[in-house]
Amino acid sequence: MFVEPDLGRNTRTGWIEVICGCMFSGKTEELIRRLKRAQIARQKVEIFKPAIDTRYHEADVVSHNANAIRSTPIHAAHEIFLWSGDCAVAGIDEAQFFDESIVEVCVKLANGGKRVIVAGLDMDFQGKPFGCMPALMAVAEFVTKVHAVCAICGSVASYSYRLTPAKEKILLGETENYEARCRRCFNLGAKAVAL
Ligand code: ADP
Ligand code: MG
Repeated sequence: MFVEPDLGRNTRTGWIEVICGCMFSGKTEELIRRLKRAQIARQKVEIFKPAIDTRYHEADVVSHNANAIRSTPIHAAHEIFLWSGDCAVAGIDEAQFFDESIVEVCVKLANGGKRVIVAGLDMDFQGKPFGCMPALMAVAEFVTKVHAVCAICGSVASYSYRLTPAKEKILLGETENYEARCRRCFNLGAKAVAL
């Protein structure tokens, strides 16, 4: 369990935390947990998500277990600067949908003394590193990889298996389009059978 570090207590340094993993691994849940703790500590929190992600709600960030927090949908990473002026903590969900400029934005926010918490998919549906996520992980002080339960065999799952034949990298959707799978069942693909 991630516990807030005290490296900012006597200084005014910022830092970057990355929460990564496959679909259904609890990234959003963990992001919301950290942000709500910061709010309890009366820190000013701003939350951002890409405007394309309207699966559950136009503005809220919502986890698969229906936990929610109000957020600002944005179209490009630099818009974060417009809304994050006086906040102490900036949260970003679904970071993999932003282009590489999100890395520089996060670095600038952290250099300016903010705590930046970024959640996103570390791999796409083909098991390849997803867009800006590897670079974000490299510049972060803290990286937490969370896991799901394999929908086939119950092992630890870190892959998002696409159940539909669509080939595009971005296909929004939930249980009808994706399931969490362990390495073995992901590699077996359509041949994987439930134990
Ligand atoms: P993420 O943001 O990583 O997609 P969420 O935080 O939105 O994940 O949702 C995590 C929740 O999803 C879990 O607490 C659980 O209720 C639910 N869930 C659905 N399928 C699975 C699975 N295969 N493994 C683990 N949790 C799952
Ligand atoms: Mg999520």
